[in-house]
Amino acid sequence: MTNQSKATVIQAPVISNHEAMPGVHLLWLEAPEIARVASPGQFVMACCGRENLLRRPMSIHRTDEDKTKLALMFTVVGKGTSWLSQRQPGEKLDLLGPLGKGFSVDPASFNLLLVAGGLGIAPLTFLAQTAAAGNRSIALLLGAKTGSQLCPGHLLPQGVRCFTATDDGTAGSKGIITDLLPKYLDWASQVFACGPSAMYRTIANQNRKLLRRKEIQVSLETRMACGLGLCYGCTVKTRQGLKQVCQDGPVFNIDDILWDEFVDI
Ligand SMILES: Cc1cc2nc3c(=O)[nH]c(=O)nc-3n(C[C@H](O)[C@H](O)[C@H](O)COP(=O)(O)OP(=O)(O)OC[C@H]3O[C@@H](n4cnc5c(N)ncnc54)[C@H](O)[C@@H]3O)c2cc1C
Repeated sequence: MTNQSKATVIQAPVISNHEAMPGVHLLWLEAPEIARVASPGQFVMACCGRENLLRRPMSIHRTDEDKTKLALMFTVVGKGTSWLSQRQPGEKLDLLGPLGKGFSVDPASFNLLLVAGGLGIAPLTFLAQTAAAGNRSIALLLGAKTGSQLCPGHLLPQGVRCFTATDDGTAGSKGIITDLLPKYLDWASQVFACGPSAMYRTIANQNRKLLRRKEIQVSLETRMACGLGLCYGCTVKTRQGLKQVCQDGPVFNIDDILWDEFVDI
């Protein structure tokens, strides 16, 4: 069974859509067909109106308790996300999903360390939400350039210990979030990261010796056209050969990616 085999196309009514922090929208949708079967780290391809030919990939940010609704959290960066940000309650969104291979939590892992750079918090929230139900201990390292770009407390997953860092020191400790990583590594059974590729390079390069003792899963972002493994637009080079982010990922082991060959968006 491929990772895409549970995917379906649905017309999902918008429940709410608002700016959760500057330039970042939180969009709740009625989408039981996807919410029921989705797992953390998976994504949807959202149709962004007639004027945008290609769907845009968006991580599933969280679901509600009944698994009838799901939320997307996205930064407005271009035409597609701008269109999404203007959708009103009651309008329907054409969604394809759930897609991809998400995070894999070992049943024996009790202490989970999540590392979010900027809007990397989007898929990690769903992971925390799901993992917390298994009575695990979860710590979140949350970083951003500046305090106003940190995900606000009320939107963070519940039952998670959160430690923050900002590049300019306006909230939490001053510096990049990976500076905090070594302190929590011994505690962690597994590490899950989502953020810009620069963050992954730092983790992979600077801390290689220390981190090799832990399994670190990262969610990759690449340009993606179809989401179905058909166009090969999201291909990356790994130690196991060429892989497609849309169906072999987006979650990979950090040591499998050939970072020298990885093309930044
Ligand atoms: C698996 C996956 C999950 C994602 N989940 C989220 C999410 O939860 N929240 C979120 O805000 N974004 C997420 N993205 C990124 C998101 O898909 C892009 O930001 C979006 O497609 C941009 O569309 P646009 O039409 O607004 O911008 P465009 O007009 O296409 O491009 C505008 C700018 O956005 C940049 N951009 C384009 N595509 C991407 C991309 N795939 N990743 C990063 N930057 C891009 C371009 O370099 C350009 O600078 C995800 C990407 C992938 C591959």
